Amino acid sequence: MSEVKRISVPVINTHSLMGWLVPRLRKLKTALDGGKLPEKVESDGLWQCNGYCHFTKYCWPDGVPAPSELKKKEKAKTDAVLKAMGRR
Ligand code: SF4
Repeated sequence: MSEVKRISVPVINTHSLMGWLVPRLRKLKTALDGGKLPEKVESDGLWQCNGYCHFTKYCWPDGVPAPSELKKKEKAKTDAVLKAMGRR
């Protein structure tokens, strides 16, 4: 802390920040008001579930899956929907 270093960093503009933030805040408000919980993360966001997030035991009671395992399940779901729609 005694050695302060100044570095330049890219700053997101307010419009972009609000575009990123507002949809997330809406989902959070809905959940906090007793509404639908947001979707769980997808395979590329699983890193958050391993030691970073405090809700892991609620979302993944049987343990956090490996990203490849979840990716396989996501693909199976997509394939099932496409098959049901006659697109596969
Ligand atoms: S454990 Fe946390 S980061 Fe992972 S899906 Fe649940 S709420 Fe999202």
